[in-house]
Amino acid sequence: MQVITLRALADNYIYLLLDGDAPEATVVDPGDAAPVFKYLKETGRRLTAILNTHHHGDHTGGNRELLKRFPGIPVYGGAGDRGRIPTQTVFLMEGDEVTVCRSKARILDVPGHTRAHIAYFFSSADGSGDLFSGDTVFGGTIGNMFEETPDVMYESIQKIRALPRQTRIWCSHEYTLQYVRESAGIDPGNVRLSGRLKALEAAAHLGKPTVPLLLEEECATNPFFRWDDPDLTTHVSAPPGIAAFRRLCEIT
Ligand code: ZN
Ligand code: FE
Repeated sequence: MQVITLRALADNYIYLLLDGDAPEATVVDPGDAAPVFKYLKETGRRLTAILNTHHHGDHTGGNRELLKRFPGIPVYGGAGDRGRIPTQTVFLMEGDEVTVCRSKARILDVPGHTRAHIAYFFSSADGSGDLFSGDTVFGGTIGNMFEETPDVMYESIQKIRALPRQTRIWCSHEYTLQYVRESAGIDPGNVRLSGRLKALEAAAHLGKPTVPLLLEEECATNPFFRWDDPDLTTHVSAPPGIAAFRRLCEIT
């Protein structure tokens, strides 16, 4: 499976999943139909499925227009988003499997940003994987908790942290530099984090996407993945675990 990264709206990413030269394409979180149409036209491909992670308009705003051009294609989303994702036809739960472009994704329930947020995990034969995680994880931080509490988000991040460390995380916004910089202030003794910040600053003028993130790097540098790291928990003055995670949510 190949992943094509499209920029959309202010700072969103839309992903297209392809299977080699096959004409079929699957789109993840089409907040806007225009860049998707443009790519499909340029490459002579057609859309065969829409994967949505949650109901927000910057992830689902293109659904209707895409459906007009490609009527009848399945539109996947979480079961808990029934009635909130426009044109949704498939209602997914934790552990369900979805096959698109000859690759199989396992569904993770990752509530926190919204109450019905899901992620799509494609495992690879080499022990890595691709996670489409919407607004749950960003480079150096996690998504805002609009509909859920830090305790619920903690469970979701634990689930993501347990995936293979070489998992590529395809998040839905380009926030990496801003939040890695902020995190460097929260975890000042973290050499790996200060190195990450330096590399991001040096590359910022290129304007290139920082996705995919690597789970291994988030585990080493994203404070919200480090609730049990002794240095970090000392810095935030909270015991390891949920207390440290809650504390991080308070101070950011
Ligand atoms: Zn959102
Ligand atoms: Fe978003």
